[in-house]
Amino acid sequence: MPASGIKTRILIISDTHSRPLQNDYPHDPPRAFREPLPDADVLIHCGDMTMTGSVPDYNATLDVLRASSAPLKLVIAGNHDLSLEEKWMSNHREKDWRFVAMEEENDPLDKKASVSKAERQVRRDCKSVYQEARDFWTKEGGVARKEGVVFLDEGSHTFRLDNGALLRIYASPYTPDFQDWGFAYPVKTHDSFNSHTHSFDKTTNICQNPIPSFSASSTEESERNVDVVITHGPPYKQLDLTATGLNVGCPHLLHAISRAKPLIHCFGHIHEGYGARLVEWANNDSAKASDSKNDTTSTTVDTYMTETWRTAITPSTHGDSKSSGAQVSFPPETDIARDRSVRLDLSSLTTVTTSSQPQSAAQALMDVDDEFVEETQDEAKAVELKRGRNTLFVNASIVDLGYKAVNAPFLIEAELQGAV
Ligand SMILES: [Zn+2]
Repeated sequence: MPASGIKTRILIISDTHSRPLQNDYPHDPPRAFREPLPDADVLIHCGDMTMTGSVPDYNATLDVLRASSAPLKLVIAGNHDLSLEEKWMSNHREKDWRFVAMEEENDPLDKKASVSKAERQVRRDCKSVYQEARDFWTKEGGVARKEGVVFLDEGSHTFRLDNGALLRIYASPYTPDFQDWGFAYPVKTHDSFNSHTHSFDKTTNICQNPIPSFSASSTEESERNVDVVITHGPPYKQLDLTATGLNVGCPHLLHAISRAKPLIHCFGHIHEGYGARLVEWANNDSAKASDSKNDTTSTTVDTYMTETWRTAITPSTHGDSKSSGAQVSFPPETDIARDRSVRLDLSSLTTVTTSSQPQSAAQALMDVDDEFVEETQDEAKAVELKRGRNTLFVNASIVDLGYKAVNAPFLIEAELQGAV
């Protein structure tokens, strides 16, 4: 691997839920998520582009993507982008309120009595609604492709960027089942991210395209290590804490990420988990060890969630009981507003170790400000992120729990290898 790579600006957003770049109320102070989006070499959207997956919602998302000058824009689906999952569509049809809501937005005429029942049935053919959504994002010469948007299905994807860098991505829209939304799997029993050999004991493997393991010796373009993993949901214990105090991230995903050791793993889904954390992997020097060691055969999901996950991450970045890794310091609020983004450079991150003072979950929940004050008292540490040793986790949810677009996009500068 060359000592220095090609500086690449990666703009990351998630969970925009078809919110526009304009303020909700004209008198609100200008927020960071506004026009134009900051310049970047590539833009990534980690899913939940819409509320239910209607075409007007997709158009609103395309308006946001159009406001970016990035020559390449990568998007994945989230659990709300229902019309992009064929299975959800065929299982729900017009019986589900979300399907009805989607169709009423797709075709306001549906609400009128003048539309005959027969016409509605044709319109509500789930296959054609699915195809319409699919065509919107993926059709050659279609609206999204014309804007430089590439919709990613589950699996590995490699791109040559205009700046000469090669970007290797792994993408997956799947999240643990929650209130019967899209792209779901039962997290306690099913693995959607690893190969059979890396799945936990007593687990059903449903992964079509596993996340590839890190290898220190990979030189061929086809087997380059993954630079960025894009999923809709967070992994277990990483920016996955809900307002009700639960870590709802996926343990199979954390295990997969600890194998793949990408530079960046970005996601959204848990709006209140917005932020960035850095981990150091415990097994960070042996390429063989991360791939050949079948370390999960005797580990169940329950054991992994209660204890084993800690062995993947070095003790210094374990963090507290509710989250792992070290919190990455953000630039001052005024800089974020000016830059319309949180700018982070992987060669000079500053992390803040969370307080060693034990804080009860109840106390942390009751007062977020208290937590903030405690953390600022801790020591800041400058860190250079190293490939195969560290991963930066980014929860880039733009909207909050009330679906207001309060959070800033992330603009991350990373050194990528050039295309050979
Ligand atoms: Zn969301």
